[in-house]
Amino acid sequence: MPIQLFDSLERKLKPLAPSHPDGVYRFYNCGPTVYAAAHIGNFRTFVVNDVLRRLLELEFPGKVVHVRNLTDVDDKTIKRARDEGRSLNEVTKQWTDKFHADCDALNCLRPHVEPTATGHIAEQVDMIDVLMKKGNAYRAADGSVYFKVSSFDGYGRLSRVKERELQVGTALLHKSQAVDADEKEDATDFALWKAHKTEDGANSWDSPWGPGRPGWHIECSAMSKKHLGDTIDLHTGGEDLLFPHHENEIAQSECCNGTLFAHHWYHSKHLLVDGAKMSKSLGNLYTLDDLKAKGFSPMALRYALLVGHPRKQLNFTLEGLHAAESALKSLRNFRTGLSSGDAGVFAPVFAALHDDLNTPGALGALFTIVNRGPAGVDAATFDRVMLALGLNLKASESPKADAPAEITALADKRWAAKNAKDWAAADALRKELTALGWNMKDAKDGYTLEPLKK
Ligand code: AMP
Ligand code: ZN
Repeated sequence: MPIQLFDSLERKLKPLAPSHPDGVYRFYNCGPTVYAAAHIGNFRTFVVNDVLRRLLELEFPGKVVHVRNLTDVDDKTIKRARDEGRSLNEVTKQWTDKFHADCDALNCLRPHVEPTATGHIAEQVDMIDVLMKKGNAYRAADGSVYFKVSSFDGYGRLSRVKERELQVGTALLHKSQAVDADEKEDATDFALWKAHKTEDGANSWDSPWGPGRPGWHIECSAMSKKHLGDTIDLHTGGEDLLFPHHENEIAQSECCNGTLFAHHWYHSKHLLVDGAKMSKSLGNLYTLDDLKAKGFSPMALRYALLVGHPRKQLNFTLEGLHAAESALKSLRNFRTGLSSGDAGVFAPVFAALHDDLNTPGALGALFTIVNRGPAGVDAATFDRVMLALGLNLKASESPKADAPAEITALADKRWAAKNAKDWAAADALRKELTALGWNMKDAKDGYTLEPLKK
């Protein structure tokens, strides 16, 4: 059965297949803005997209190109750099490195190409230039360039903004694009190029329209064109990107290139925490580090992010994360009992994944097998299921295992000594742990404890 996925534009399930004769599947996923640590909501979107990428690679081996950008210049990144008295580059490098480390811990595959907005200024300027020449864009008095929404008949097809009541639609447009400021001919127009302002500091590039920086939407149109060509197979992101970001990307790309931009649009829904939208003020905004500090493994977070259907909102709770830890433990135990056997039992797991990325369906089908016991079940196919879901069972052991409190207290002390480079103390504590029957294994960002065999 081919992979079927809901298409947000045509509003129906459509099979995924490469549209180009070279058989290469072209997949673009909007990436993070690198000005702070990504939160677990962002990671829901990236983990869901990672499962999609893994399925595509199993389906079209060696023929998938996955591009995910880094937004490294915008109001937020510039503000952060200004507030901290650092260069934009220093700030975005720090948070890019952190994003990579978190993605690795969550076992998300790196995209094949990870382009940055600041690395593609020329491509963005070229695209804006074409839009100017074709009459789809205009330069305002202050030197900013705007896309003229009325010049593109297809505007609103993705978000159906024109189908809603005119007033509601216009209000929506006003609200979301108000930040693009004052010099526009029409409130619905959006910025392609933002003229330099004092608060932008040194973060400015030359252009035919004067110094400034690209608008946000144009970066994805330009990077997608450069790395995947004019027409791509699949474009994805979280639900908030559907409008205006993706609507604007379609307008820019289709007016510039004169051809279809994306065959398929996929939007996953947001993560809520304890039933509410995540926010710093509610104290319910978690990063991966927050959860690691509570003793959870990154793999448990990955699992917890997959227990809900990606096209439904998912409510995250710490109880859910505990349940994820024990589900992983069951999977680890189950794996130890497997040898070669029946591969077919896993067909319902793959069928669920192929049916609109139904991850809860897949996990349910998997646990039906686990609960029947390991007899006759094929180990290699089980591993293939883990690969598709990106569940690395080896990395999932929770750092404190089942060690008693006095053992973890000693281990914590040794970990701290080691981090403080107090090797003598660290050695002495290791000996104490050994004498008590425990082996402490160090990894890059934590440790595991194993009882010594008697
Ligand atoms: P940003 O770094 O803000 O551009 O967001 C990166 C990705 O995370 C985008 O695809 C967003 O749609 C997605 N995202 C933001 N908030 C959430 C959330 N609460 N749940 C799931 N995805 C989110
Ligand atoms: Zn984008």
